[in-house]
This record gives sequence, C-alpha cells and structure tokens, in this order.
Amino acid sequence: MTTLPVSTFQAPRGTYDLLPPDSATFLAVREAISAPLRNSGYGYIETPGFENVELFARGVGESTDIVSKEMYAFTTKGGDELALRPEGTASVLRATLEANLHKTGSLPVKLWYSGSYYRYERPQKGRYRHFSQVGAEAIGTEDPALDAELIILADQAYRSLGLRDFRILLNSLGDKECRPVYRDALQGFLRELDLDEETRRRIEINPLRVLDDKRADVQKQLVGAPLLRDFLCDACKAYHEEVRELIGAAGVVFEDDEKLVRGLDYYTRTTFEFVHDGLGAQSAVGGGGRYDGLSEMIGGPALPSVGWALGVDRTVLALEAEGITLELPASTSVFAVPLGEEARRILFGVVTELRKAGVATDFAYGGKGLKGAMKAANRSGARYALVAGERDLAEGVVQLKDMSSGEQAPVALGELVATLQAKLA
Ligand code: ATP
Ligand code: MG
Repeated sequence: MTTLPVSTFQAPRGTYDLLPPDSATFLAVREAISAPLRNSGYGYIETPGFENVELFARGVGESTDIVSKEMYAFTTKGGDELALRPEGTASVLRATLEANLHKTGSLPVKLWYSGSYYRYERPQKGRYRHFSQVGAEAIGTEDPALDAELIILADQAYRSLGLRDFRILLNSLGDKECRPVYRDALQGFLRELDLDEETRRRIEINPLRVLDDKRADVQKQLVGAPLLRDFLCDACKAYHEEVRELIGAAGVVFEDDEKLVRGLDYYTRTTFEFVHDGLGAQSAVGGGGRYDGLSEMIGGPALPSVGWALGVDRTVLALEAEGITLELPASTSVFAVPLGEEARRILFGVVTELRKAGVATDFAYGGKGLKGAMKAANRSGARYALVAGERDLAEGVVQLKDMSSGEQAPVALGELVATLQAKLA
C-alpha cells in the first residue's frame, strides 16, 4: 500500500461532502420537503442513479442544455450507452411505465423521490456537479387541482422550514393546439433580431428557450416579443385560470410571469418556479410543471402528468440567507463514561440495553481518562452522562449526571432504563 498524495483527499470539482453537524440540516430539509407529500398520498420511489442515455435524450430533449452540455454520458465496458441522471422526471416515468403502475393502480400515480443528480456545469455557489433534489410526480391525470396540490405542498414545505423570502412564479406554456401557433409567431419575431450564431440556431430548434437568455443585451431586444398568454387556446386559458384560483384560495401567493419557460422541453400548460431572493444568481430553489406529452415522447401511452423538483442544496443556502437555524434535537441523549476495565464491560452492556429501549446513547471508547471522556460527553450534546467506576458497580448503581445543571445522583442499575426514559420523555 502506498500512501495517497494529499490532492486525492480533494473531492472532485463541483462537488462537496456533507459532514456532521451540517449534514443534519441537510437531512432535515429533505425530511421537511417530503413530509407534505407523504401526507398527501405520494408513495416513495427510488430509481437507479443512471439510465440509458436515450431516455434523457428523448425525455428531457436533445436541444436542452441539460442533454447537450451538462450530461455525464458514458459507454460501459459492455458497450451500453448510459448517463448519470441529470433530473428525476424521465426516470420516474420510465419506471412507472415499466411496472405498469398506471394500469394496476388508480390514477393519478403519485410518487415522490429524493436523491443525487449530476450535471456537468460551471461550478459556483448554488451550482454543483453533484446535487440533491426532492421531487414529486402525479402521473396520468389532467386536473387543475393536481397542479394546484403540488404548488401548495411545495409552498407548505418551504413555510414549514421557516422560509419567507421566496416567490412562486407561474405561467402556462399552452398545449399542442396553441403552442405551435405561438412558436411560429415567436420565431418570426426572433429571426429579425441581432443575435449570435448559437442563439440563431436555438430560434429554429427551441425558440422559447431564447426568452430564458440571461444576457442583458438579449433581454433588451426581447422587449415587445409576442407573449404566450395572448396565444393560449380557450381550453388552456380555462385550465390555467382554475389553477390560479385554487392556489389563490389556498392562501398561496404567486406572481404571473409570462416569460417563465423553464429549461426542459417536456413542459406543457402549468409551469412554475420557486425563486429565493437571498441567493444571488442561482435564485431558483425549485421548479416544475405539467408534462402532458412526455410519456408519448419516450414511447408510452398518453399520460398527462405534473411534477416538481426542489433543490436541497439551494434550500439549505436559502435557510442560511434568511438566518434560519433549524431546531434539531441533539442526536445523542445519554453518554456513558466507564472508569476502569470491569466498569467498561458492564457499562457497555447498559449502553446496548438503553439503545434497545430507544434511548439514543453513546459510549466513551478508547479507554479515555475521566477528563477526556467528559469532554467527549459534552461534545456529543447529550443531556445525561452515566459515570460508573468499580465502587459504584459493586453497589449496583451508576452515577447519573445532568449535563446542564451538573447535578449528579446514583441510580440503581435495574432502574436505569425506566429512569432515563422518564427523564427524556
Ligand atoms: P438553473 O436555472 O439554476 O440552472 P434548472 O432550471 O436547471 O436551474 P431544474 O432542472 O428545474 O433546475 O432543477 C430543479 C432544482 O434543482 C433547481 O431549482 C435547483 O434548486 C436544483 N438544481 C438544478 N441544478 C443544480 C445544480 N447544478 N446545483 C445545485 N442545484 C441544482
Ligand atoms: Mg440548469
């Protein structure tokens, strides 16, 4: 074995490690985002971290940045063309179709997921090559209440974390009736502008994406561009009105944003984004929308669906930006400190017993002296320390020390579990 050079201790560019104690916040955010979903009929789904590259090429869209620039695609030793998943929706729909969930259960199929996603992006604060999302998809039903439900649940998730400085941007992208008419009109407008080669190409492949261009000189030229709002067919208009009314009635505040197009090809009708004003350039904390055509795009039957994905990394940054510290209980309640070899053996047995009884307990390992062990007990955040030496054990007791008051009293070994359970309840 050779020792590793120092540089190999460096996580790959654009990635970072989640470490205690901060990792607890990350877990709590995942928990908080998924809680409203779990409470609303969504079942948990987990799909592989990679898929056939074709799924994303067809399902996310060849012309999107995600597929054309950001995807980690590779050929395996066996010759399979795979890609690390850049997003969740295509995989969840693929899994639904593979397992026939849309035929075996009642519609909509409601699923939530949580995991790692990979995009080859230019790393910066809030933009990483490996990041985490919690997402939800409601598959197989066209009903404005379903779109509203998802927006309301995301709002609820953010509010439960104490976030306040986020905004919900809402738009409708139309459907296969009205969107092509708008697309033509937009292309006509865009072709007259003074734009670079790449953007000109984009006008022909995916003109709506040009509206999303972040460059100021481009945005200036876009003033006066035809708006989708003015092209929506009656069915899309009525659908969108209903979504707006339902979320409004739920007390969820939103802003109409006619320019919101989102980066994925598969969206139809309802589209929305959650932005946080304390995050600078990477302001989108989550987004989603309706994707009525996606199932057919990947070779399945017509399955009108709606979903969202919220970024866990950026949600954590949003908490920091608002100065919110989540109140997380210390993970260890009791810390056991043995004094001497015999005490070590007996106290270790007590620790196992406490853990079985559901009391979060840790132990001073490595034969530390009393001082070092008490320091470890302090660091653990435990409310109680159990200290026992030979003499205590001979009397059948351990010393129970309240870490905040410093008070200490002997407790009989046989009563320890019940005593601690009562004190911690
Ligand atoms: P952006 O416009 O910032 O690139 P996006 O439209 O590509 O975002 P989505 O594909 O809608 O993002 O993903 C949903 C959420 O996932 C985003 O709102 C964001 O919180 C998070 N996310 C996306 N890409 C990254 C990334 N590279 N690093 C960290 N979080 C990300
Ligand atoms: Mg992006």
